[in-house]
Amino acid sequence: MREYLQFYIDGRWVDPAHPRTAEVVNPATEAVSGTISLGSAADVELAVAAARRAFASWSLTTREQRLDLLRAIQAEYARRQPELGEAITEEMGAPASLANGFHVGLGAGHLQTAIEILKDYRFEEQRGATMIAREPIGVCALITPWNWPMNQTCVKIFPALATGCTMILKPPQLAPYSAQILAEILDAAGVPAGVFNMIQGAGSVIGTALSTHPDVDMVSFTGSEPVGVQISRDAAQTVKRVGLELGGKSPFIVLDDDDLTANVTGATAGMMGNSGQTCSAGSRLLVPAARIDEATAAAAAAADAVSVGDPTGNVAMGPVVSMAQYDIIQDYIGRGLDGGAELVAGGLGRPEGLDRGWFVKPTVFVTTNDTIIAREEIFGPVLVIIGYDDIDHAIEIANDTEFGLAGYVNGRDTELCRAVAKRMRTGWISINGGFDFHAPFGGYKRSGNGREWGEFGFDEYVEIKSMLGYG
Ligand code: NAD
Repeated sequence: MREYLQFYIDGRWVDPAHPRTAEVVNPATEAVSGTISLGSAADVELAVAAARRAFASWSLTTREQRLDLLRAIQAEYARRQPELGEAITEEMGAPASLANGFHVGLGAGHLQTAIEILKDYRFEEQRGATMIAREPIGVCALITPWNWPMNQTCVKIFPALATGCTMILKPPQLAPYSAQILAEILDAAGVPAGVFNMIQGAGSVIGTALSTHPDVDMVSFTGSEPVGVQISRDAAQTVKRVGLELGGKSPFIVLDDDDLTANVTGATAGMMGNSGQTCSAGSRLLVPAARIDEATAAAAAAADAVSVGDPTGNVAMGPVVSMAQYDIIQDYIGRGLDGGAELVAGGLGRPEGLDRGWFVKPTVFVTTNDTIIAREEIFGPVLVIIGYDDIDHAIEIANDTEFGLAGYVNGRDTELCRAVAKRMRTGWISINGGFDFHAPFGGYKRSGNGREWGEFGFDEYVEIKSMLGYG
């Protein structure tokens, strides 16, 4: 049983101003796995004041000093990776192999990337007779979701640290453990007092107190669209910068070639990873209409082959994060069935033999792009297959969505893949499985604004200053 009752404020572990706790439930067992404290606005006051004080000196540190600190964090992070993986499995149900692999690895990747970029990041650049400086924006509130907890926190913390900002992290209430360990890592690595602070608690309390706080300069948020809208409203009162990484309903276009079966199989397995709880998941699989039977058979076989069960064991898919998430997904599967979509794998209820835990069947529908299950983000292991007549039609369907976070195109004809990628209205497109820590990540349309990852992630945390008369 875990007990994390203190917050990290001003370089120390401190008790909450007003003691209040909440239980954390293991989604695989439905049993309580631990207790956390829930913070209040009084804790936020202390943390923001500490971050403001620390900004005065941290913002003036040199590139080398920040690199030294990031390297110290890297050593500590490496040492505690197994604990992070275990915590992630326990808090949000990712299978051990995924938690210890990609989950923890994404955090390490963002840290390594921050180190590489900081070495050469242009904090000052003379253009003609003008010196352009990139200066840290100030005190940042970092508000993160539960679905990829290390990815979401690390992609914010390390660029913020590297650019000279100070920060308050508000981790998700559903997945608080890995953030607590990360705070211990930062503490052990010697982050100066007040530079990094962490308060656990409810979004409506801690998140709102941060978004409305006059001494917070920026909010970086990853999460759902309604909360992103609320934060934007709250932050507008004090004209803060707000970075939003929101949801998606991303298209995965499979081209008409000899690799169709393999590509559909890979796309389906990818969709079921992390129980479908990935903002950039390729949840709309677009295949040539003339070969839809072949594609459907491949997707159904791939979904049926996904092993679901105890995430501490050797399975491909664990539970979804909570009962509430389970209910939302079941509701969408029901609406798919009621709306006439053709179910080709999975369906309602838990997989056979799993009576406890929030386990969902890997589910595949064949449908059209105008149905609810093709338009709304389900955030579960539910894939929809949609047929296209030709490439123009595929692109039309791909772009016919309110979202624009990610896109995928797989096929043998590299030139055609690139031409398709150029016409997709999304911020991040993977061609034949391409992946890059330095590639900016963020959404068009209602998937958000701003860009994280790599150098563009640094740009989020700086103000631009022009100093004229440098001739
Ligand atoms: P959520 O929006 O419910 O919560 C995200 C965070 O915001 C949590 O820490 C929560 O406590 C906090 N919060 C809640 N209400 C708040 C308020 N009024 N003010 C300030 N903060 C508040 O999202 P979630 O359920 O944790 O995550 C799932 C959603 O996140 C999905 O929609 C998914 O697509 C999205 N997501 C997007 C990305 C991306 O990079 N675009 C990545 C991961 C998840």
